[in-house]
Amino acid sequence: MTSVDLINPATERVVQRVALATVEDADAAVARAVAAGPAWRAVTPADRARLLRRFAEAVDADRENLARLEVENTGHTIGNARWEAGNVRDLLDYYSAAPERLFGRQIPVAGGVDMTFAEPIGVVGVIAPWNFPMPIAAWGFAPALAAGNTVLLKPATLTPLTALRLAELAREAGVPDGVFQVVAGEGSVVGDRLITHPAVGKIVFTGSTEVGKRILAGCAEQVKRVTLELGGKSANIVFADADLERAAASAPYAVFDNAGQDCCARSRILVARGVFDEFMQLLEPAVRGVRVGDPGEEKTEMGPLISAGQRERVASYVTDDVAVAFRGSCPDGPGFWFPPTVLAPVGADDPTWTEEIFGPVVAVAPFDDEADAIRMANASSYGLAGSIWTRDVGRAFRVARALETGNLSVNSHSSVRYSTPFGGFKQSGLGRELGPDALDAFTETKNVFIATEQP
Ligand code: NAP
Ligand code: MG
Repeated sequence: MTSVDLINPATERVVQRVALATVEDADAAVARAVAAGPAWRAVTPADRARLLRRFAEAVDADRENLARLEVENTGHTIGNARWEAGNVRDLLDYYSAAPERLFGRQIPVAGGVDMTFAEPIGVVGVIAPWNFPMPIAAWGFAPALAAGNTVLLKPATLTPLTALRLAELAREAGVPDGVFQVVAGEGSVVGDRLITHPAVGKIVFTGSTEVGKRILAGCAEQVKRVTLELGGKSANIVFADADLERAAASAPYAVFDNAGQDCCARSRILVARGVFDEFMQLLEPAVRGVRVGDPGEEKTEMGPLISAGQRERVASYVTDDVAVAFRGSCPDGPGFWFPPTVLAPVGADDPTWTEEIFGPVVAVAPFDDEADAIRMANASSYGLAGSIWTRDVGRAFRVARALETGNLSVNSHSSVRYSTPFGGFKQSGLGRELGPDALDAFTETKNVFIATEQP
């Protein structure tokens, strides 16, 4: 393919035709990134910080435009899209503090002085998915740039528009040519080239576990540094002593936000057997109340799926022989709509219980006691996020420590804050993004010993 027609998922109308980069285009971009490296490294820490803050200001001033672009291209609700653009600004602000704080250590040794330096890796390739194009790209590029690397961002083929706009904003803010480039093209072409190109020192990938495994294998060839953020099948565990009304009222938003196309979606709800029926009675009106429709409307809570293909994939899990407990509504007519759907309890090896559906479909099941809840939650190849609802603080800590998952919330469903680490256990990923330690993933530690003994 040489170009792609981007489709508005809420209307099925063509938004724009975008040219797709070739392997030669990718190679030329890598060459520019390599050439820009030494000068970018030489920018003083205070000036690099200032450039990142200017980039943040440019994003902030363009926030409404970025949000509208995202609504058109992805069908995200306007409320979410504004948050997403704001998240890019916040990430740039947060990591603008890093260049002046990339401390090394001075370590006591015999015969001299020993110190460490956090050196940039060089060229970093960020391969982003279509589900959160802006935030996920920035989780990679903001700390990578702050640490002194140059960056090539490959957005998903379906969702390049905000990435392309962010590259313009970086240029307007004064980020030098070649330091931050967006190469819109296919995963099998541009994505693959970033992995095989010897001048790319690190890959940050977010997407499916299936592609993630191939990327890990590809990076192994050159011992290329790699961070992976992959899929999830996260558990929302509701104990009998929880505030059931709050737990039920919030559960739909923990899985149907972004139409369920969220790696942190709490797509399994585990409920204590004694309160199971009561919880389901409270959940039903909450699910029916989710406002699904035109993503550009201020009050809309859930938009369409990203594509016809994704709707087919999601629908393939909810066939006629699958029992639905209850479901919400969605518009008919054009658009890739799918209603919020709660399935009746299924067996532990049913695909709707074990596989990431990446759509507005949630599975529920009762558990017997705390140990049973932990066992069921951990019986997954994934381990990205999860929620625990209880009023017992001891239980909250016990269960949180026992779960094999990277991001937990108690009496809340929040997973992502730019200032705290994010990433998965098991097949949900490798490494961590965000928070104070993300710079470690974009630097190499160099140890230098200086002899001070007299000859
Ligand atoms: P994907 O295939 O893993 O795509 C993610 C990114 O990787 C895209 O930019 C894609 O480019 C690129 N890519 C694909 N094949 C590649 C290759 N061989 N080498 C290098 N890069 C490659 O995900 P998807 O197809 O968009 O979605 C499929 C499923 O993945 C979803 O239904 C969901 O279950 C899961 N998913 C999870 C997350 C998450 O946040 N954990 C995000 C997205 C999807 P193209 O756009 O050109 O394919
Ligand atoms: Mg794919």
